[in-house]
Amino acid sequence: MNKCDSEVLASLLVENGYSYIDDFQKADILLLNTCSVRDTAERKVLGRLERLKQVKEKKPDMILGVCGCMAQSWEKELLKRFPYIDIILGTNRLIELPNLIRERLNSGVSAIDVLEMPSNGEIIPKVRESKVTAWVTIMHGCNNFCSYCIVPYVRGRERSRSSESILQEIKKLGESGYKEVTLLGQNVNSYGFDSDEKIDFADLLALIDANSPGIERIRFTTSHPKDVSSKLIDAMGELPKVCNHFHLPAQAGSNNILEKMNRGYTREHYINLIDKLRAKVPDISITTDLIVGFPGETEEDFQDTLDLVRRVEFDVAFCFRFSPRRGTPAAKMDGQLPEEVKMRRLYELLEIQDKISIEKNRAMIGQIHEILVEGQNPKDKSQLSGRTRNNRIVFFTGDIDLIGQLVTVEITDAGNWSLRGELCS
Ligand code: SAM
Ligand code: SF4
Repeated sequence: MNKCDSEVLASLLVENGYSYIDDFQKADILLLNTCSVRDTAERKVLGRLERLKQVKEKKPDMILGVCGCMAQSWEKELLKRFPYIDIILGTNRLIELPNLIRERLNSGVSAIDVLEMPSNGEIIPKVRESKVTAWVTIMHGCNNFCSYCIVPYVRGRERSRSSESILQEIKKLGESGYKEVTLLGQNVNSYGFDSDEKIDFADLLALIDANSPGIERIRFTTSHPKDVSSKLIDAMGELPKVCNHFHLPAQAGSNNILEKMNRGYTREHYINLIDKLRAKVPDISITTDLIVGFPGETEEDFQDTLDLVRRVEFDVAFCFRFSPRRGTPAAKMDGQLPEEVKMRRLYELLEIQDKISIEKNRAMIGQIHEILVEGQNPKDKSQLSGRTRNNRIVFFTGDIDLIGQLVTVEITDAGNWSLRGELCS
């Protein structure tokens, strides 16, 4: 979501006559697009703002902006700590960036817009990081208020884009050579709940599948287990362009903790969904997010999470230590756990999950997979990098002209996070 927002901000600048330069110290405008989901993300931004003081002293005319979730939640506090910030722009108001730049230049004082009311108008990114695969926001905000999560406070309530506008964006992407779209929302399963269109997420997938010439693959993130419908599971099995990968954050394996998290489902419901998905799409890859060290999490609760991990055998799990977020109910709950307990549980969880991930990856050795070639391996430019339909990154030797094409590759080696392969002739 943040990467997509950064593309929107870049597009607004380019439309207003700006262009990229590599050396940020020479830039006329420097924007930090921020995330508030965990403390580590916020600390990174604070450290960077500290270091930018010297850059601003050397080049006082540079406009330094802080955008996104931290701008929304920290607002004036940021300005107090770093008075050299010129622009503070919240998540619902990105389209106002050019106005804020003008305001800052005319007034000489910092310009701030963190209004909760979303600005009118949509911005379809014209500047995108990839020429092959594109993010497409289908809805903004979240209504779920999971007790640990800051997103509903910084991104506001759910707002679905119209299906017509989404389809138009995707058609244009197909015409300009994109092969894959990833539909974005905090909870894509509740797409349309807030609109009169009577089109739910499964309907939207079917519409995109049937009306997106040139697009070969459709992905989406994130799904909420409480809103996964049988219709969506059927769509996963029936729509040819929808990839065989489902990211379904479980967050915890203990019903006690799931209730405290306000997640709205039980572990039994979650496991039942996985069983149904696997019955419908046998080769589906299932990934998840998990939080350890939630307030009041007992050793038994934690064992329930480990048990869920062993039971479901996720292809990948993104595992986090609970990070108290200001203003959320969980930050004030009794039973906050010491960091060393959270760390120990995190390492224990990672050890179990890593073994599962590597075993699943190794099981793919010898298989032939369709790969969408996305670019070069960032660590070894002599290799290409692409993805299988089930969302594994694969590195292999091949001509640079293959970027943007679908090729077949035999998997020859497997690590925790990526595979290696050989191009089939
Ligand atoms: N909307 C998605 C969902 O419901 O799963 C994901 C949103 S959140 C930006 C991404 C992940 O960050 C969550 O799935 C959760 O695991 C993690 N997360 C959110 N708040 C957190 C917190 N306070 N501490 C640790 N992890 C957190
Ligand atoms: Fe946060 Fe829960 Fe909304 Fe996901 S569904 S963004 S975890 S509140």
